[in-house]
Amino acid sequence: ENNNVELLFEAKSENEAFARVVAAAFVTYLDPTMEELQDIKTAVSEAVTNAIVHGYDNGPGKVRMRLKGIQNQVIIEVHDDGLGMENVAKAMEPLYTTKPEQERSGMGFSFMEAFMDDLRVASAPGKGTTVLMRK
Ligand code: ATP
Ligand code: MG
Repeated sequence: ENNNVELLFEAKSENEAFARVVAAAFVTYLDPTMEELQDIKTAVSEAVTNAIVHGYDNGPGKVRMRLKGIQNQVIIEVHDDGLGMENVAKAMEPLYTTKPEQERSGMGFSFMEAFMDDLRVASAPGKGTTVLMRK
């Protein structure tokens, strides 16, 4: 049986923890292992942090997280209407960051890729960014 939850929240760093906990709570009925739960929390944390610090450049905006349970899998979509990216493939390379001065290591997408079973990113300058993850 399928299940859906949608969450719209302000792009504030304190809401990153909120989104992470919501995602963890959502998947409870799927009976994940501790490791799977940790992987999902980390991936959500990275995607939401990116929306806040890169998408909106730490300014005002709204982040939307959609959680979909399909059979025993979860699909998580994190969307911002922020700056977007010129070159998604480049941005997804390990260690690539446009904010090295803010102690960013350029590993967010690599973690999402490693911890989830599937990762897709849609983005364009001025059009915002959508990160789609499945596990
Ligand atoms: P880290 O995640 O290790 O702190 P990072 O955020 O720079 O560093 P990634 O999460 O891999 O590394 O993202 C790589 C780059 O992709 C970012 O530096 C930024 O330029 C771009 N990017 C990622 N998410 C977004 C987004 N939502 N909107 C605009 N640009 C983004
Ligand atoms: Mg990041």
